[in-house]
Amino acid sequence: MSEAVAARPRGDLYEEVTAWLDAHWDPDLSVDEWWKVVAAAGWTAPHLPVEQGGRGLNRRSPAVVRSAFHAFGALRPPGGLGLLMAAPTILTQGTPEQIDRFVPPILEGRVGWCQLFSEPGAGSDLAGLTTRATRDGDRWIVNGQKVWSSEAMQSDYGMLLARTDFDVPKHKGISWFAFKLDQPGVTIRPLREMTGHAVFNEVFFDDAVVDDADLIGGAGNGWAVTQTTLHFERTGIGAGGAHAGFPWPGPKGGMLGRRAGDAALEDAPNEKLVMSYPDVVALAAEHGRNRDPHIRQDLARLYTISQLGLWNAQRGKAEAARGGGQNVASIGKLTQTQVVKLAARLGTDILGPSGVLAGPVAPHGGLFAQAMVFSPASSIYGGTDEIQRNIVAERSLGLPREPAPDKELPYGEVLRARSRAATGGIA
Ligand SMILES: Cc1cc2nc3c(=O)[nH]c(=O)nc-3n(C[C@H](O)[C@H](O)[C@H](O)COP(=O)(O)OP(=O)(O)OC[C@H]3O[C@@H](n4cnc5c(N)ncnc54)[C@H](O)[C@@H]3O)c2cc1C
Repeated sequence: MSEAVAARPRGDLYEEVTAWLDAHWDPDLSVDEWWKVVAAAGWTAPHLPVEQGGRGLNRRSPAVVRSAFHAFGALRPPGGLGLLMAAPTILTQGTPEQIDRFVPPILEGRVGWCQLFSEPGAGSDLAGLTTRATRDGDRWIVNGQKVWSSEAMQSDYGMLLARTDFDVPKHKGISWFAFKLDQPGVTIRPLREMTGHAVFNEVFFDDAVVDDADLIGGAGNGWAVTQTTLHFERTGIGAGGAHAGFPWPGPKGGMLGRRAGDAALEDAPNEKLVMSYPDVVALAAEHGRNRDPHIRQDLARLYTISQLGLWNAQRGKAEAARGGGQNVASIGKLTQTQVVKLAARLGTDILGPSGVLAGPVAPHGGLFAQAMVFSPASSIYGGTDEIQRNIVAERSLGLPREPAPDKELPYGEVLRARSRAATGGIA
């Protein structure tokens, strides 16, 4: 990455992290040893409370910390969806035994997690999922299919939503499992996107097994647990989604046994799919476009939206402390979508025609072109823009709820009625 793109505004936290790295960065440690040191100091998830392994800092702190690590030349803390969603969900909804078992390996980057929520017939209407888990003594047997499961190929565990009761209304029969992926009943198939990467996967369950001890939040309580996960996903994305991807945690990420200094050299800027205001303002300065009135106008817009996102995140933190904040999380996610799209577009505007080139000969290694083709996804992942607006409309503005005629009916009955309708009443 060029100096200009790497540059970040400095602050007290940035300086504190840099001073800590001065004292602690040891490129000769293995990656797993280094990540233990980083986790013990609370830098992996600095936004978590101190007693949960963090440093009690704000939602934007992970982005600052990771940027300071990268600029210093140290391997950043582990990334992955476990940190973004599984750890905070289990910390909120798990038993002390589950917290002890699942959270430290996430903070130390020893396991990778993916999110097994969406299905071919259940995305926005997530509560309509039909993957089923059937109790069998002290374990559950899982059958069904998930789709759009980011990073499933690199993961050891999945946050699995499955229907455990078809005789109750759809929101009431769902359970949230910490699901082990490496087993005979699981097939994972990658799906290639227009970015050229295959982040997504389809995941199939064919009599797969999960222990009852790995059920988080109790049977049939999965919708409440899901709200916790989605809250952390949306607030995390709203804060820049700083730790959603690289460096890959877990054995399948391929980094654990390596020398940390070597892994740091590959802490690749091209893994960065999302641009922010500092990236673009530095790019404009580097290319002498920061005096162009059109570019300046868009930079001002981008700065304004980014600041609104920051203040919204602070408001969200205060509301979360009072037990609310879902609607604030949705506003944050919508704001971040605007940042991602505008920053990507502005980056390619600044670079001109060569900005849409990809590959090593392209300016900045094609980083901005890649951000451009990834940016439409920001309106979809973590719940679409339309769904976020519905949440804000209903929960913040008090507008009438969407009609949901099937909401109170046993879900098995709804599915049977749908199947009868689809077959002209024959089934
Ligand atoms: C980059 C990326 C990563 C993802 N990663 C994961 C992952 O790791 N795990 C996972 O489980 N899922 C993941 N997803 C899936 C994502 O959560 C879903 O795609 C999303 O929730 C939308 O669901 P859908 O694709 O089924 O679209 P649909 O729900 O079919 O929606 C289609 C369109 O209809 C609109 N719509 C639907 N219902 C309403 C409504 N009630 N009001 C107004 N408009 C409506 C939607 O906004 C959308 O425009 C990912 C998606 C992307 C793009």
